[in-house]
Amino acid sequence: MSTANLSVLSIDGLLERLESRSKLHAGYPYNLAFDSHRVLPLLKYTLNNLGDAYVEGNYGINTKDFEREIISFFADIYHLEKDDAWGYVTSCGTEGNLYGILMGRELYPDAILYGSADCHYSVVKAARMFRIPFVEIKSQIHGEIDYSSLYEALDKNRHKPAIINVNVGTTITGAVDDISKVVAILSELNITQFHIHVDGALGGMLIPYMEEATPLDFSRYPIGSIAVSGHKFIGSPVPCGIVLARKEKVQSFDIEYLGSTDTTITGSRNGLTPVILWDAIEQRKHLFKEEVLNCRKLAEYFWNKIAESRNFALINPFSTTVVFERPEKFLEKRWQLACYGKIAHIVVMQNHNQAILEQLLQELGVMNT
Ligand SMILES: *Cc1c(COP(=O)(O)O)cnc(C)c1O
Repeated sequence: MSTANLSVLSIDGLLERLESRSKLHAGYPYNLAFDSHRVLPLLKYTLNNLGDAYVEGNYGINTKDFEREIISFFADIYHLEKDDAWGYVTSCGTEGNLYGILMGRELYPDAILYGSADCHYSVVKAARMFRIPFVEIKSQIHGEIDYSSLYEALDKNRHKPAIINVNVGTTITGAVDDISKVVAILSELNITQFHIHVDGALGGMLIPYMEEATPLDFSRYPIGSIAVSGHKFIGSPVPCGIVLARKEKVQSFDIEYLGSTDTTITGSRNGLTPVILWDAIEQRKHLFKEEVLNCRKLAEYFWNKIAESRNFALINPFSTTVVFERPEKFLEKRWQLACYGKIAHIVVMQNHNQAILEQLLQELGVMNT
């Protein structure tokens, strides 16, 4: 008897499940409508962007030229001069947050990290990992940081450098902290030793295409670093992200045997994801604005319908996240909703259309046909 086929798992079976689970998905901010088939021929290579993206290194089977172009794209949308920009393609938004916050600590070893109660857990994790004292700032009811509480906390520690995590799209309600207000507080308090890190996991790709929003503008505001997830708005078959930073503030350490520089959180780095992102950006960058506005329009539609029949429905400006009362467990699982206590949310992404949202509204008992 052969023991080779004891497993009941199969790739065909997996494909079937993934196909069906991708149809009803509304809770996570993932664009499931990407098309990465052009990178398939690359799967036969051991792609590894070992070390710094700007240092060629000795390992030649890499995609660092594509990676640098992605960083240039982000530098461009955030108004950071190409020559002043440094960054890399990360394994996810979390790694970008770890990097940006660590960068703050390397610049100011005795800094305090400030972030709102609505920060992503990776921000708190960074504080723990890097042993940075963390001061949690109260949030407003809709999830944006409470500016007077931030003022008070900074005032209390004005003799200490500050690392500030600014949320551009909170995980739960999609709230956007206003960077111009944060900068105004720092200047009012005369705090000059600070590092502003922007967590723009999803919102980092929405804000540049929304006209009324305070722009994510490195030329106008003293932003130090920004992290964005790649598999959220842009879309990717595997998680990835980017981190962009002001080059002059980046610390590096030369590692001789790599022939490269140790600037990144991980050593070996994914060489496929830079090409996935590059290809998506090449195909769709002229459509990003339309995609953002379309998702926003559908989110407003969904929010309106919920608001008509329920006590509670929330949509923040500059967001495609709609928060509502948590439905029954069955629907939560079926639609893969993200739930927190008494609330649930959906994030409208490019793979949604009016018909699918109507189906969800019907199942929620909000719309009858
Ligand atoms: C999703 C998210 C992250 C983490 O991104 P990953 O790519 O999942 O690691 C960080 N911050 C916010 C606000 C997020 O929504």
